[in-house]
Amino acid sequence: MSLNRAQQILWQTTCREQLLTSVQEGDVTADLVVVGGGFSGCSAALKAAELGLNVCVLEAERIGLGGSGRNVGLVNAGLWMPPDDVERTMGREAGEKLNAALAGAPDLVFSLIDKHRIDCEAVRNGTLHCAHSAAGLRDIKSRYRQLESRGAPVTLLDPLDTAARTGSSRFQGALHDARAGTIQPLAYCTGLARAAQQAGANIHTNSPATHIERQGDQWLAHTARGTVTAKYLLVATNAYHVEAQGVPAPAFVPVHYFQVATVPLDDENRAAILPELEGGWDTATVMSSFRRDQNGRLIIGAVGSLDHSAASIHRDWARSKLSQLFPHLKDIPLEYVWCGRIAMTSDHIPKIVRLGANAHMIYGYSGRGIGPGTLFGSRVVSAFATGNEELLPIKPVDRHEERHVTLKAAYYETGACLAHLVRF
Ligand SMILES: Cc1cc2nc3c(=O)[nH]c(=O)nc-3n(C[C@H](O)[C@H](O)[C@H](O)COP(=O)(O)OP(=O)(O)OC[C@H]3O[C@@H](n4cnc5c(N)ncnc54)[C@H](O)[C@@H]3O)c2cc1C
Repeated sequence: MSLNRAQQILWQTTCREQLLTSVQEGDVTADLVVVGGGFSGCSAALKAAELGLNVCVLEAERIGLGGSGRNVGLVNAGLWMPPDDVERTMGREAGEKLNAALAGAPDLVFSLIDKHRIDCEAVRNGTLHCAHSAAGLRDIKSRYRQLESRGAPVTLLDPLDTAARTGSSRFQGALHDARAGTIQPLAYCTGLARAAQQAGANIHTNSPATHIERQGDQWLAHTARGTVTAKYLLVATNAYHVEAQGVPAPAFVPVHYFQVATVPLDDENRAAILPELEGGWDTATVMSSFRRDQNGRLIIGAVGSLDHSAASIHRDWARSKLSQLFPHLKDIPLEYVWCGRIAMTSDHIPKIVRLGANAHMIYGYSGRGIGPGTLFGSRVVSAFATGNEELLPIKPVDRHEERHVTLKAAYYETGACLAHLVRF
């Protein structure tokens, strides 16, 4: 098939988790109203329902419509930024707290998958951060030292081992992190919502919150056909926020990331390319990722938007990257191509913004949202339920602003176009 076909998200056609939802109607009361049905909102709903709270999720379209249903599916420990940088940016104590919480995020994700039998192609064989150059090798060595000193189960692989694990001889080495793994992201998100529903949560789709207001000591969320009144409010709309009057839009720089998926590989290539099914990504400034799905498709992705007139640059780059990494696959048919929006913050640290009493907005995972989104959603609910803000992985702020958003977004997209044009 041609890569110029319309975008189609692979994860939508291979999601085996199922969920029956309804549109929100009538005036109802709950303990917690969650706005947004991605990892963050669904994890919060599950935690709340398990704690015995009456929880109502309002999702504008469908569960996993946003980043949670479009992403690569790499369940990594920590943020994109190395842990030393996190501590430098946030200060020692706050940085250590966030690093420690996020180091355990893959355990949380995989334990939820086990506990609720979420059918999401989960494989926990680690991920490979691959050095594409001498500078990249220095980068992964520095990350290795930082992670190892914190007790993380990481290993440095030489070029031969890296070639055996990836099936490509293009890399100068790799950092293997055994805490990590891969999932089918939309199935994971749908499974979280299904588990929340089974525990008693009300999940409403095609039900955007259009207006949110404070009435007495309660929050009142309006939808087209009704209202939800609740003591606690969580807004988890991240990069796919649809305006709801009464709450500020999350401030972030939108960065786009696209992926292509090949037809399923034959047995010989499955034995040679990522035979252990680790997910991988490289150290290039405009980073690219690669992984396989359970049907043996190879999925390659990189920063770039498919929604503008020069998008063919990214599509052409994908074909060229495929032949660089795996020359014998240069003509393999590509079956799927899709794109998603990442909420990047300038300091690359996620945010918890206090919207008022008993109300938070969580977002800005900057491209690392599976572990962090699951953790933040769950911890916000624990903090609400106990009144103990120390349970939050980071301190809430009263507001977060981003400057020069349009300029920065253009910088990322232009940089990706230029890098892909010269086949970097
Ligand atoms: C292409 C891509 C690749 C990625 N790869 C990875 C990866 O490999 N590993 C990783 O850890 N992270 C990755 N990420 C990041 C990760 O996907 C996100 O950080 C994560 O999905 C955010 O989850 P969320 O629940 O906060 O937001 P989302 O999943 O975006 O969900 C927000 C939801 O809110 C809903 N909504 C918005 N406004 C309203 C409203 N007014 N009322 C009701 N509902 C509303 C939206 O419809 C949406 O469903 C990737 C992101 C992208 C885009």
